Amino acid sequence: MSVKKVKKSETELIEEAKQYCPPWKRKPFKLSGSRFKAVAICPSWIPEDEKPDVSTVAADKGTAFHEALETGDTSGLDEEQLYFAGLCKRYIEPLLIGAVYDYTEPKFESKEFLPSGKIDKVIISRTKTGYSAHVIDWKYGMWEVDDAEHNWQGFIYMSHVYLWEELRTKLGSSLEEITMHFVQPRIDSVSHHTFTSADLENILSKIKTIVEATQLPEETRPRIINMRNCQRCGDLYHCPKFKEKAISLAQFYSTEHPELPIVRPSALTEPEQYAMALEAKDVLEEWCKSVKHFATQYRLGGHEIPGYELTKREGVKSFDELNNERVMDLIKSKIELEDLDVLKIASIPYKKLLELLGDHGLTPNAIEIFVDELKDQNILKQNNPTFYLKRKK
Ligand code: SF4
Repeated sequence: MSVKKVKKSETELIEEAKQYCPPWKRKPFKLSGSRFKAVAICPSWIPEDEKPDVSTVAADKGTAFHEALETGDTSGLDEEQLYFAGLCKRYIEPLLIGAVYDYTEPKFESKEFLPSGKIDKVIISRTKTGYSAHVIDWKYGMWEVDDAEHNWQGFIYMSHVYLWEELRTKLGSSLEEITMHFVQPRIDSVSHHTFTSADLENILSKIKTIVEATQLPEETRPRIINMRNCQRCGDLYHCPKFKEKAISLAQFYSTEHPELPIVRPSALTEPEQYAMALEAKDVLEEWCKSVKHFATQYRLGGHEIPGYELTKREGVKSFDELNNERVMDLIKSKIELEDLDVLKIASIPYKKLLELLGDHGLTPNAIEIFVDELKDQNILKQNNPTFYLKRKK
């Protein structure tokens, strides 16, 4: 299929790019359980600006799944969600035996130093000498979360339960232990850990220290470089600590110091040198992204950069893997397929699929109609275009 491309002028591209590359600005930032790990690593961390969502299918599925577990109404779930909801229900059945209180989705306002939160399930049981609590967080995502023993989100949830006035009124001060559970049915993973009241006092004190550090004035607030955390930090492009580190490494890498082994990776011999070179690589990669980002912003601000022009790259089109069957049904309604082809299509990239349709005799017009159908049915997602500066030829 040949599509005639119309080249836009750079002025037109700048106008289009402004929709997708809004100027950087720091957003007011509300601390939450899910973000707490990041500020525990670096108290100056702030979230990245919200990115436009290209597909909300997975997020919608997670929301529907949580709602069904909350209300018990599973009528809106598909087969897969029903199966996972069943696993979750079975997981808590033994915890509910003999339970004295069973709370679903209690909400907690931010309190003193604790950020607000909503907990999926809290189950209270009697022990020989008092009470114990089970705090459960269902995770529908596919990323394995930190173990319950070290999970900051879990720490926040347990702290709320531990300080919960309603519960203290009912139980007195006899809540002896809390077990935090993270249940991830889609990746067949469960992590749980039991904390005593002494552990919880200790956790509360750590949370307080971290929150206080986030509230320090910018000049004195610590900035702790940790590449994985920095990569998701909304302050990355402005962070003086990060720039300092990147620039010092860039200088180190310059040809002014050819004798330093880091300049010639092939000359590295010691494990420490490799570790240092790998750290330099991570920081420099981020610094390069920062240079590109600000150069593009500068161009969008109307400034010419000699030798460079704004260029657009279309967003990648792909199928939502959860909809493979629907894609397949749609394809089968268009062309005759051998079993082997059906197998191939199960993992075929979008572009190759169009070629395959052409090979099976579909005209470019029919392929375009097919693509529109995919879009109408929300089973084709397309990332936003990206804009970057390219060296002029
Ligand atoms: S970029 Fe700076 S502020 Fe952000 S996490 Fe890294 S060190 Fe902290």
